[in-house]
Amino acid sequence: MRFEIITIFPGFFEGIFEHGIVRRAQAEGLVSVGVHDLRAFTHDRHRTVDDRPFGGGEGMVLKPEPLAEALASIGIPPLADRAAEPETTRPRVILMSAQGRPLTQAVARELATMPRIVLICGRYEGVDERINELYCDMELSIGDYVLSGGELAAAVVVDTVMRLVPGVLGNEASGEFESFGIGDSEIAVDVEGVPRSQHGSGGLLDYPHYTRPAEFAGLRAPEVLMNGDHQQIRRWRREQQLRKTLRNRPDLLNAASLSGDDQRLLDAIRGEGEK
Ligand code: SAH
Repeated sequence: MRFEIITIFPGFFEGIFEHGIVRRAQAEGLVSVGVHDLRAFTHDRHRTVDDRPFGGGEGMVLKPEPLAEALASIGIPPLADRAAEPETTRPRVILMSAQGRPLTQAVARELATMPRIVLICGRYEGVDERINELYCDMELSIGDYVLSGGELAAAVVVDTVMRLVPGVLGNEASGEFESFGIGDSEIAVDVEGVPRSQHGSGGLLDYPHYTRPAEFAGLRAPEVLMNGDHQQIRRWRREQQLRKTLRNRPDLLNAASLSGDDQRLLDAIRGEGEK
């Protein structure tokens, strides 16, 4: 898979993809990232990329022409001319925007199946809307807050999507067993090395993790994790997932895939609060 990033600050990405899983994925040739300097597609002495907004108001807006040229330089024609390309080879163009649809793990999983993703980083008040209309498959937001530019957001997208590309995570299935993972019923294969006792997270948050030492600062790691009873461990972890999701992200429970046991546990946990 190939990522292309269009930005006025190419230096921002120096070093950012040179750590951990993201670095390894590139070293192994599973993914690559190209960073393109928007100013290289200007033709005036000042290398102007922005202009004042029509209609007045605050700030500046990224001009459409340099962006259209930058896209053309990496072989991206307008949407209308890409429609005929087969799904499997068609690049996806994404505008980083606070007005975009939210980036979720489900969106990341979908993007991880694409051959090529182009990320456009806005600055100032944003990007001339005609770029969105003419070139972009979607607008993507990384959360309900306003950043000063799309660079940080694009880096978040690259990191999140890249680790889901098949082969990138050491254990192919581990993406299913973490926070926001899919439900058991959707996990197609019993992948070797993944204890089924861990359960697909089914849209819940992950359970807490512990490692040695068994006692730290007077706190013992939960006994249940030490006794080797996988049934019990599974039940404990599931309960912790439900507790944490109820406490920090109750909104996720609506869409989570919950078994009858889960429902009963959840009712019991809710009951405790009423005591
Ligand atoms: N006027 C815009 C904010 C512009 S911030 C608004 O109110 O929606 C400048 C740039 O930062 C945007 O063009 C976008 O590329 C990026 N950006 C800001 N917040 C973002 C977010 N939550 N997710 C993704 N990109 C964001």
